[in-house]
Amino acid sequence: MARLTGRTALVTGGSRGIGRAVVRRLAAEGARVGVHYASNEAAAKETVATVEAAGGSAFAIRAELGVPGDADALWQAFDAHADGLDILVNNAGIAGPGLIHEVTEEDYDRVFAVNAKAPFFIIQKGLDRLRDGGRIVNISSGVTKVAFPGMTSYAASKGALEVLTLTLAQTLGSRGITVNAVSPGTIETDIHPWMADPAAKAHAASFSVFDRVGQPDDVADVVAFLASPDARWVTGQNIDASGGSGLGL
Ligand code: NAP
Repeated sequence: MARLTGRTALVTGGSRGIGRAVVRRLAAEGARVGVHYASNEAAAKETVATVEAAGGSAFAIRAELGVPGDADALWQAFDAHADGLDILVNNAGIAGPGLIHEVTEEDYDRVFAVNAKAPFFIIQKGLDRLRDGGRIVNISSGVTKVAFPGMTSYAASKGALEVLTLTLAQTLGSRGITVNAVSPGTIETDIHPWMADPAAKAHAASFSVFDRVGQPDDVADVVAFLASPDARWVTGQNIDASGGSGLGL
């Protein structure tokens, strides 16, 4: 399973959760992977160590997203380790729960800055580095498919990311670059501290037809497909990775 030998990848938010699983999977397929993180250096180093222990290659880069100049800082850090890339996974994101009347302007700006603006400019400023035939995978969310009133600003930010995905698939087709989104359902990561409550976790599990919450690997395997040569004819799509959540609604 070395479909990605010779490829270089960058996974934003690769230090923990879904991003870490994506890093491990891409590295297992032979890619050299940049593990981006914001502040949790220990987690990023642990991710790199795990990859190396399995015989793969990875490097950690730090850049706070959602602040002015974030994309430039990220690429500057990346350039110190690699000469161009083939696969960009925009995974870093933050939750922004709140009914519309609960969302402050600051909350809204923060969620959009990390979830929508950062991927936009990471892609824009990365296009010179991304080789023809490359892959862009944006991690969205199932909250754009059905109404989640308690996550108003977060859902809107992911909607923006999905439209960006569609638009860029058209723009970058001439370079053989595919642009797709993956929309996870509820995945067991640090983003959901409430999952420590068994009753809350069981309720979340009931959304899936498989009656369990998702694991990061459930999403990473889908990302790996889109990043691979096998997905050369798939672009502008938003792939659901939610265990069939909401099928019966
Ligand atoms: P997570 O466990 O909370 O991990 C978040 C990752 O993003 C970490 O690597 C973190 O870096 C990085 N990050 C967070 N804020 C950042 C910032 N301001 N600048 C740079 N990096 C930042 O999250 P997750 O659950 O794996 O979610 C990953 C993606 O999947 C997000 O886009 C999320 O919206 C989406 N998603 C998740 C679920 C779910 O149920 N978990 C469902 C649908 C969609 P540090 O380690 O340095 O903090």
